[in-house]
Amino acid sequence: MKYLTEYRDAGLVHTLVDEIRRTVKRNWVVMEICGGQTHAIMRYGLDQLLPPEIELVHGPGCPVCVTSLELIDKALEIASQPGVIFTSYGDMLRVPGSGRDLFSVRASGGDVRVVYSPLDAIKIAQLNPDKQVVFFAIGFETTAPANAMSVIQAEALGLKNYSVLVSHVRVPPAMHAILGSPENRVQAFMAAGHVCAVMGYWEYPPIAHQYKVPIVVTGFEPVDILQGLLLSIRQLETGRFETENGYPRVVTFEGNRPAQDVLQRVFQECDRKWRGIGLIPASGWQLRSEYAHLDAETRFSVDQIQPEESPICISGQVLQGVKKPLQCPAFGGLCTPEHPLGATMVSSEGACAAYYHYGREAYG
Ligand code: SF4
Repeated sequence: MKYLTEYRDAGLVHTLVDEIRRTVKRNWVVMEICGGQTHAIMRYGLDQLLPPEIELVHGPGCPVCVTSLELIDKALEIASQPGVIFTSYGDMLRVPGSGRDLFSVRASGGDVRVVYSPLDAIKIAQLNPDKQVVFFAIGFETTAPANAMSVIQAEALGLKNYSVLVSHVRVPPAMHAILGSPENRVQAFMAAGHVCAVMGYWEYPPIAHQYKVPIVVTGFEPVDILQGLLLSIRQLETGRFETENGYPRVVTFEGNRPAQDVLQRVFQECDRKWRGIGLIPASGWQLRSEYAHLDAETRFSVDQIQPEESPICISGQVLQGVKKPLQCPAFGGLCTPEHPLGATMVSSEGACAAYYHYGREAYG
């Protein structure tokens, strides 16, 4: 398949690994931001090909993982109410809240439905005018434009029975939070290529200069990831801290301006809690006041829900690159994909799940 198989080419992979080995002279810690990149690294064993000087740590770019416990519990409360059809992407159904998940709400009789697009939720609302249809709008800058479009469409259709439970998060404030932490170990970022496809990378140069870290826009196939890593290591070894585009076949500096316009029209920045990490200022999007009547949190009066995180799970430290999944005492014992304690073990993009599925417990 064009633009896919050639980026999994074993010869190119080994050429890039050899070049990384020739380039690296000192120890460096590099974070790949996106959970999709983490899974590609584990799936293809890229971490095992690298020289010992390079440590990859895994970032917070998994929307399922970072959706706050508070929002999950609000989703569970709303989905349990009679007369509600709660719609969500499938990977949110197994994410544990304080005591249960959306699957268990469905098993108890709740009408919880998996959709592949918020526009499916709009159709369900049109077909069920006597029900309240709620869409769980989670994700980074990648999914936010489509979710914003559903809000615009609901308004255009005059739907009174559609609302969104918004849990959108933004990457740049998370980078600030990681780099500004006294525990920070990250010396370079491989930025998430799909986020940059929407947002461009014009937000990154000030971050690179403020913290003196290279930021390289990076894709998701083995060759993309090694290319992003090579560009990062070249910068680190030569003392540069620039923003580079290692994914030019998809990403431009400006990004997708029409999508950004839709985001600006529907959402405004807000402080947001990240699961395991806590509150990050200006790291989320919420509905603008013009669309506040479509906010499920207000419609269903769930503002008072304020749960406590599990004291066992260290996913917050994993998501900031401070610790790795194998440093969690619950990994593989108390916490497995079948019985997850934290969201990073549930999600297909979670770092703990990646380590578990690709057998990293055997390698350390
Ligand atoms: S292994 Fe489980 S308990 Fe430990 S950090 Fe990962 S999700 Fe949390």
